[in-house]
Amino acid sequence: MPDVVTRFAPSPTGHLHIGGARTAIFCWLLARHFDGRFYLRIEDTDLLRSKQEYTDAILASMRWLGLDWDGPPVFQSRRAALYNGLVDRLLTSGRAYWCGCTPEEVEAMRELARRNGAKPRYNGKCRDRCLGPGQGRCVRLKIPLTGKIVFDDMVKGRIAVDAGELDDMVIRRADGMPTYNLAVVADDNDMGVTHVIRGDDHVSNTPRQILIYQALGLPVPRFGHVPMILGHDRQKLSKRHGARSVIEYQRDGLLPQALVSYLARLGWSRGDQELFSPEELVRYFDGSNLNPAAAAFDPAKLEWTNARFMRSMPLAELARCVAPFVREAGFGCVPEERLVGLCVLFRERATDLRALAQSFRPLLVPAAELAINEKDAARHLTETGKSHLRALEAVFSSCAPFDAAAVNEALNSYVADNSLTFKQVAPPLRTALMGFMGGSHLNDIMAFLGREETLSRLRRAASFA
Ligand code: GLU
Repeated sequence: MPDVVTRFAPSPTGHLHIGGARTAIFCWLLARHFDGRFYLRIEDTDLLRSKQEYTDAILASMRWLGLDWDGPPVFQSRRAALYNGLVDRLLTSGRAYWCGCTPEEVEAMRELARRNGAKPRYNGKCRDRCLGPGQGRCVRLKIPLTGKIVFDDMVKGRIAVDAGELDDMVIRRADGMPTYNLAVVADDNDMGVTHVIRGDDHVSNTPRQILIYQALGLPVPRFGHVPMILGHDRQKLSKRHGARSVIEYQRDGLLPQALVSYLARLGWSRGDQELFSPEELVRYFDGSNLNPAAAAFDPAKLEWTNARFMRSMPLAELARCVAPFVREAGFGCVPEERLVGLCVLFRERATDLRALAQSFRPLLVPAAELAINEKDAARHLTETGKSHLRALEAVFSSCAPFDAAAVNEALNSYVADNSLTFKQVAPPLRTALMGFMGGSHLNDIMAFLGREETLSRLRRAASFA
């Protein structure tokens, strides 16, 4: 058995959001760092709210993020026999008992406790009644009456809870369904999970789960409860804070490695390094340095992270990543080497793949379809500007070879020979080539367009009315 086995256990009641994604990233990293196993468990026992489409979407998001899991996903809805087997074992060993109290009776016990200033709890009425199975009866775990449940949380440090604070919890409901805590313990044990990393909304379940392990005589895994990700105002994260689901980030043109790096940094650190490739994360993430304080989600930082990844990744890879967005933008199937050329020109300026693809537009439409910005035209396509374009048309038609260096030289000579400044010539030329005052180096743009397309653009702009 590997030393480290982790699992990610989403409930398929919605898409994978960034909080869940970050938990999955931590689980995956820990397993990969220690050469262990990373499993996926779909917690689909809520039959009303669980949907196949969400399971599919979660798996697709995991794949896109590069979080590969070992073996087939495990579905809780198919494992009732395992759960019931454990409940029966607890009944046989006397660590659990049948309870015949009605929900109204239990509510009354809770109310009484509340009125007495105590925690609302079941009062153990059936604990020693030795009831057998029967209509409307649930099964409860016999919780020790004294002592402490102590565990060393990987994130929060030592946590100790008095057993006396807990009541005899239900492990199989009256309808025969095992409860959540029982199922999680049964699965984590069955899957050989050694490290349970999850959101700290589950931290109050952990002492209860530990008691189930102990009652069954099973080894207790290590736990790590990561704090929630908050919005900039320290409130619960929502769309309002700019947070979206993983699938939306994918659609909007984020790079998966950028999202993984950003989310990993949100709750974990290594010195002051901000950007991590997936390989670096696997190398450095060993479960230490997890921050117990809740981190705030910052969309601008995520955008910055993505831009940095776009700038530093191999061009061929960037070209492959942007290709679907180029198709989506309606530019058709642009050959990879053209895409590489476009990425060179524009990647410094875009913060996501969709914006990058959009920035290609002026260079991918034919001269006749290039939209010319009216304001820029009014300012730069003046009679003087147009006369420069006509002159440059002649200059560039005899420029050979038509590459960035030669075009640059020809342009510089034109400026020098006519005692002009670059500032007089560049704006009309840029407006002619791009349709607006944006883009990259003029010589690179022209080299990308090629001679014919460059000349057509100059001609068209020179006669722009
Ligand atoms: N299904 C639970 C959730 O989505 C995860 C519980 C766990 O990781 O133990 O919050």
